[in-house]
Amino acid sequence: MTKEKLKAYEERLKPCPFCGTKAKFYASANGMGYNASCRNTKCRILVITESFDSPEEAIKVWNKRGKADAILQ
Ligand SMILES: [Zn+2]
Repeated sequence: MTKEKLKAYEERLKPCPFCGTKAKFYASANGMGYNASCRNTKCRILVITESFDSPEEAIKVWNKRGKADAILQ
């Protein structure tokens, strides 16, 4: 996956539900999995999705978590 593609996926991620920092989207080194995580190293919780086979799935799960937390506020 190209850097441009990764960036395009990253644009679709909502901010971290805990600290509001922009999320990071990345592909695993072997190219077999995709994750979304919080970029903030000082975030109190390491927020990261499981590894998914498709980028779409990783984005969906990350964004769903954000929405669920917004409801709790
Ligand atoms: Zn965070």
